[in-house]
Amino acid sequence: MGLTKADYLIVGQGLAGTWLAHEMLNRDLKVIIFDEDKDETSSKRAAGIYNPITGRKMVKTWRADQLFPTLENMYSQLEKKLNQAFLHKTPIYRPFKSIEDQNDWEVKRGNEIYDEYIKEIPTNSIGYQNIADPYGGIILNHSGYVDIPTMLKSSKTLFVDKGIYRGEVFVYEEMELNADSVNYQGIEAKKVIFCEGVSDNPFWDLPFKPVRGEIMDIACEWTSDHIINQGVFMIPKGDKFTVGSTYDHNNLTFEPQESGIKSLEERLKKLYSGSYKILDKRAGVRPATHDRKPYIGFHSKHKTLGIFNGFGTKGVSLTPHFAKHFVDVLLDQDELDEEVDVQRVN
Ligand SMILES: Cc1cc2nc3c(=O)[nH]c(=O)nc-3n(C[C@H](O)[C@H](O)[C@H](O)COP(=O)(O)OP(=O)(O)OC[C@H]3O[C@@H](n4cnc5c(N)ncnc54)[C@H](O)[C@@H]3O)c2cc1C
Repeated sequence: MGLTKADYLIVGQGLAGTWLAHEMLNRDLKVIIFDEDKDETSSKRAAGIYNPITGRKMVKTWRADQLFPTLENMYSQLEKKLNQAFLHKTPIYRPFKSIEDQNDWEVKRGNEIYDEYIKEIPTNSIGYQNIADPYGGIILNHSGYVDIPTMLKSSKTLFVDKGIYRGEVFVYEEMELNADSVNYQGIEAKKVIFCEGVSDNPFWDLPFKPVRGEIMDIACEWTSDHIINQGVFMIPKGDKFTVGSTYDHNNLTFEPQESGIKSLEERLKKLYSGSYKILDKRAGVRPATHDRKPYIGFHSKHKTLGIFNGFGTKGVSLTPHFAKHFVDVLLDQDELDEEVDVQRVN
């Protein structure tokens, strides 16, 4: 039997591998995707929020001006291609914690670098019963969430239909690395790109700093037009809310921990004083890195091996842009962005 030829093998069909595969298909590249199709992955456990202004200090997230103007459009285009809805544009409402917090934003609002991302800054409660927002808050634009499991499932259906999906573990030992190609189980490809999230891949000894997180679904007797975010986020999803998240560098398990759920509930109760019932608790481990920037690029010894990983807490907003960028690099149409180049640590 002769060799099957492919341009690229992609290992992993999480958010990273999925965006990379779509981008390669858009450029008519021949790609084969391997995924062991397990339930315990970062993408399948994620809340899916994209948010241009984040953190305790509420500053623009890294590369916001590069990522956010095209982000929603990229997801909308993918929805059309897959004929499936998964993008939920939703303003994020972040109540102010104090009058000082409110004053800070009165000043910041005058700064045009935030214009694009601020929808409104109410200075009084917006009137959700049981939500603590006595000083009003900030309402953001270009924000919302992606239903990642639905996006991955409909992408997988397309890949299966095209005959380019293999639902199996990729076995590293079975790669034969040549100067300009890789042979793997009867396939000859130009490169293998690893998009494995948290993994034990022996080729990449990188300073990942994985972070476990818990989230839960709750039922309560109201709903909201906003994602509400203060201490915890509450994402309205029809008759329930998804509430998250915790951050823990220890105990990197996909089992929700009691301590994590307790911490979520404590923070939830500061934001929301109504009654609720927990419907589901889950946990995942985020593939975060030492400097909070992705690891993208090529192996220092084996030029036929590439990596597209390390999207940490922000896979939803980072993967579409960087998938496009990485394919440009693979096709010699651009130089690899130095800040994300894996050579900084490889
Ligand atoms: C609780 C929690 C909440 C989160 N909330 C958000 C959020 O609100 N917004 C946001 O942007 N991000 C969020 N994240 C982070 C987000 O999930 C990640 O950034 C993103 O999903 C990483 O995607 P990935 O494709 O790199 O990794 P993964 O999702 O882990 O995908 C890797 C894939 O590779 C497969 N694989 C690995 N090794 C092999 C192999 N040898 N052979 C075959 N297949 C293999 C795995 O099965 C998996 O399908 C959250 C994460 C967690 C845990």
